[in-house]
Amino acid sequence: MDFKKLPKVELHCHLDGSIRVSTAIELIKKENLEIESLDYDFIKKKLVVEDECNSLDEYLEKFDLPLKLMQSEENLERIAYELIEDSFKENIKYIEIRFAPLLHLEKGLEIDSIIESVLRGMEKGEKQFGVKSGLILCILRHMPKDRAREVIEIGKRYIKDGVVAIDLAGSELEGFVKEYKDIFEKVEQYGYKVTIHAGETGFSNNVIDAINILGAKRIGHGIAILKDKEAFNLVKDKNIVLEMCPKSNVQTKAIEKYEHHPIKKFLNEEIKATLCTDNNTVSNVSLSEEWESTNKIQGLDLEDFKRIYINGVYGAFCSKEVKKELLKEVESFK
Ligand SMILES: [Zn+2]
Repeated sequence: MDFKKLPKVELHCHLDGSIRVSTAIELIKKENLEIESLDYDFIKKKLVVEDECNSLDEYLEKFDLPLKLMQSEENLERIAYELIEDSFKENIKYIEIRFAPLLHLEKGLEIDSIIESVLRGMEKGEKQFGVKSGLILCILRHMPKDRAREVIEIGKRYIKDGVVAIDLAGSELEGFVKEYKDIFEKVEQYGYKVTIHAGETGFSNNVIDAINILGAKRIGHGIAILKDKEAFNLVKDKNIVLEMCPKSNVQTKAIEKYEHHPIKKFLNEEIKATLCTDNNTVSNVSLSEEWESTNKIQGLDLEDFKRIYINGVYGAFCSKEVKKELLKEVESFK
């Protein structure tokens, strides 16, 4: 199988975790950022997690440098544009990029211009490379709730211009979802869709709450439902799409070994699972590589990849017209 050639849909990709190493080097120079060395391997080490990463915290440290470089309109636009270009090279037909606008306020940018800059980069990329895209606004659990509300209120102005959904991200605590009930109250009414990081590190009740309380149509990771019949059945019965990122799950120790990842089992049980990277750079993985690993390690075959593609299209927060276009690509799976 030529994994690069097969058409793909990417639903879970963080912008700040997907900056190119070469771009980081250029932007460090441009921003006069003090750093010990500009050597490619040195910078790569700052951005990419080691295979023997010990925890989610160690994983999250890799976002420090990218975030320092993502504090201007120009840089945000460039990084979003380049991610679309990189997606094109992977034959990704549709990508949803996510990021947390509140992480880009350090040098005085406002939430609206932060969102606009990323949308500009995506639009420019779409024009140039024909890759369709949508933008998900992340709210981080450790951030003040009133600021989260602000993101939702400001972001809704851009729903017609490419913003598609709200996500809740950050380290996962058991039962956290209930606290966001009021904040998410108007989200659907505004026209946003909802996807929530849940069940990544063992708490399957967070998946149940994300669906029942916050109205999530998709779940980021959701591997914890493997051991919880109630959560599993809810995901299955409601056709919730799971955005699964095996390599990232191994790195953050959400699972011990790649071969233990439940993607194959979920597909066999007709759960709507799809494959994603989480972070191209931090996880040091492209979507083609992730597909290839699931083929080599878990034995996923062409039929499984076709299912993954169809599940991705089903879960995509795009128009019916775009979905129809994307489904035409299914013929390439032979
Ligand atoms: Zn994520």
